[in-house]
Amino acid sequence: MKEARDRRPDHSAVRVSCSTCKQWRDVDLDAIIAKKGADFSLINRRARCKLTPKCPGRNRFFYQGGVMRPLWDQPTGDRWIREDEAERAAMERSRQFIASAMRRRVYRPDPPPPGVLSDVWAIATDEERDVLLSAAAEVRRWRGTR
Ligand SMILES: [Zn+2]
Repeated sequence: MKEARDRRPDHSAVRVSCSTCKQWRDVDLDAIIAKKGADFSLINRRARCKLTPKCPGRNRFFYQGGVMRPLWDQPTGDRWIREDEAERAAMERSRQFIASAMRRRVYRPDPPPPGVLSDVWAIATDEERDVLLSAAAEVRRWRGTR
């Protein structure tokens, strides 16, 4: 990235935009180079939204070439569309599962342990709560927190 920027410093304007909140921001290439190294590339990359707190969207990068042009190729864009669709479908299945579970479950509103969603904890049976507790403990071990 540094090499490409240094070759045409006057044409190196890169901006980031969110697919959901539609915010735009200039990208500080020097900061990224300092953090990720001179060979790091933004091409075909996207990330969870960092432009708006709690936004579920994804950030994509554009470069200035007369107008802002995408910093990704067609196959990557197509793959992102498929991934987003799969993610939406999975979230919808989760919502339907929770909705159907909620109809049959007793709702117990005691506070969940760290790392467990309160709605999931509230409808879980005692056996399921044991599973949730060990899963949350496992996640804390991966992250190195206790
Ligand atoms: Zn966003």
